[in-house]
Amino acid sequence: MSVHVGVIGVGMIGQDHIRRLTKVLSGAEVVAVSDVDLSQAERVAKELSGARVFATGEELIASKSVDAVVVTSWGLTHATYVLAAIAAGKPVFCEKPLATTQGDCSRVIDAEVAHGRRLVQVGFMRRFDAHYVALKATITSGAIGAPLIFNSAHRNPSVPASYTSEMALVDTAVHDIDTARFLLDDEPVAVSVKSPRRNSRGGALSDPLFTLMEMRGGALVTIETSVNIAYGYDIRGEIVGETGVASLAESNPIIVKSASTFSGRVPMDWKERFGRAFDVEVQAWLIAAARGEVTGPSAWDGYVATVVTDAGVRAIQSGERVPVTLREQPALYRAS
Ligand code: NAP
Repeated sequence: MSVHVGVIGVGMIGQDHIRRLTKVLSGAEVVAVSDVDLSQAERVAKELSGARVFATGEELIASKSVDAVVVTSWGLTHATYVLAAIAAGKPVFCEKPLATTQGDCSRVIDAEVAHGRRLVQVGFMRRFDAHYVALKATITSGAIGAPLIFNSAHRNPSVPASYTSEMALVDTAVHDIDTARFLLDDEPVAVSVKSPRRNSRGGALSDPLFTLMEMRGGALVTIETSVNIAYGYDIRGEIVGETGVASLAESNPIIVKSASTFSGRVPMDWKERFGRAFDVEVQAWLIAAARGEVTGPSAWDGYVATVVTDAGVRAIQSGERVPVTLREQPALYRAS
């Protein structure tokens, strides 16, 4: 039986998830859409047989026709919809961020804990990427010894003029921050941010940014965000262990050797690099939702990401090392 999904916010990624739910994955029917721009919701619904348009996200969540909810509206609106889905007892997939303030993230955690079981999955798709899954398995196997350093690089060819230095942390490095927690199975305790000489292609933007995250167990995480690097969307990751090193391989399926050169394609954007990870992520959510369950990255993971990016923004502004202070982790999230 299909899960009847309602999608709130049908912009770029909302439409991409609808394509995924209706054309790529199995077990879902998109029965409802909503967007602050009603005409946009109507345009998207027209392409879906029988999908109903709701004037507000709250009405969509309350509808009996909707079993589970996808939240892909602007980040500022996520907490309201996630809280409404929890109140309705419906599984909800929320694109990152879970919420833009620590207070709102905490409210989601409190509501879910009061509900008594998990309903929220946050859109950290890298946890479903085959390369990162293999890297995690290598660490867990003990093949490279205890992990000491995670070097992560997040490189974009270019960003729009509206992109700010803070966004390099909040929108870009947030994925590396979550990945570090996933790979090292540990929590951050402090963040510092430095920048070298600016990339001249980025105007006044502090680009690249270099973030150093200290983990509770003593491991260090370095995150390079270079968002005007021209050559491609390149995601690098390397774990340095006590007895070995494991790195993400290149993501392209073939390499070409020709005219004394050795080459392969570098993806040009996150959709190309992580398309399959998004499919696996949403399929995992659907399979669990069909059982009335939620697995995957949790509201706790969303909360920690926001606490760390808040600390990172303060570190950019002050130039200081900023401690990361987390609330006590509720038992609901300990085994996940
Ligand atoms: P987008 O193209 O601007 O789409 C957002 C949509 O939500 C727009 O149609 C917007 O309408 C609508 N909206 C705004 N406020 C709303 C409200 N109160 N209720 C219902 N709809 C509302 O943005 P996007 O790029 O798709 O990003 C959406 C979210 O996904 C963001 O949180 C972003 O960080 C996240 N995202 C995650 C990844 C990832 O790597 N996991 C990648 C891309 C995006 P108007 O434009 O008419 O205002």
